[in-house]
Amino acid sequence: MTTPALLERLAGGPQGSFPGALLLTGPSESRLEAEARRLAALLLCSEHPSDSCDSCRRAASGAHPDLFVAEAEGVQIRVERVRQALEFAAGRPYEGSRRVALVLGAERLGVEGGNALLKSLEEPGSHLHWILTAARPESLLSTIRSRCAVAIVPALTRAERTALWKSRGFEDDEAADLALFAPETEAAPAELLADYREFRERALLALDTALSGNRPAPLLMLAEDLGRAEPRYPALVAELLADAAVASSASAEHIRHRTAAGAVGALASRRSGEALSKAAVSAADSPPDSRRGNRRLHFEALLLDLLVGGLTPAAH
Ligand SMILES: [Zn+2]
Repeated sequence: MTTPALLERLAGGPQGSFPGALLLTGPSESRLEAEARRLAALLLCSEHPSDSCDSCRRAASGAHPDLFVAEAEGVQIRVERVRQALEFAAGRPYEGSRRVALVLGAERLGVEGGNALLKSLEEPGSHLHWILTAARPESLLSTIRSRCAVAIVPALTRAERTALWKSRGFEDDEAADLALFAPETEAAPAELLADYREFRERALLALDTALSGNRPAPLLMLAEDLGRAEPRYPALVAELLADAAVASSASAEHIRHRTAAGAVGALASRRSGEALSKAAVSAADSPPDSRRGNRRLHFEALLLDLLVGGLTPAAH
């Protein structure tokens, strides 16, 4: 087992130090792909340690003659594509001394395509590097797994995701919110962010109206919305309840939704930390299935429970 930091050093090292067949695995498919492309560019770079040379730019845009990328078209990586990769692998480098062949989402190799790769993975030759990515390595042929050095690429931390969104031009508070829910590869993050914030505001208002006036109606409406919402919204409500529980006992610096700290703080004053925490745990455990009303009923029960229980002295 090896790590991304070690691989980066090996990529800049002498010929033969980087694995000839490498499997990158980890929870985020987009991150695996980005890491595979980054390592490929490093391997092909002629001006270490430069990431802005001509070779690096062409590798990043996929236009480097010594870089080949095989990925799924539809559900599978076509056998044709694997054959092309093998032809590329057998050829000499045009520039420098190396070629790199990427197989992105290698769990989508069919049996025939996978088997076709085995010999070259076993003996790639001194000038060739295979880099495979798989978020679900258990679904790879075991004969592929056993021929590769394996490196685990961890998911980005929240701070790293925040920095990433800032580097893409979002303001501090927008980047902080995007880091909470948006996949790194999200195509239209600004629209998604607006929907997300709108829902968050609505959920916080419903909770506050209900809990401050002991009125169930806003909670029943919120449960109904959550019953058919995308999974990120039930998760959001679970986070808000957990934040309110944290805010009732610790400093607001420790909450996740810092950009909604005011409303979260108000919610924290409506019920005890214990009751909020219990509701948060139950909300985080909501049924994934939004059909048949399961999820709506789940939220109705936990929100009404919160309404009648855990009154703080101030709320009496
Ligand atoms: Zn370079």
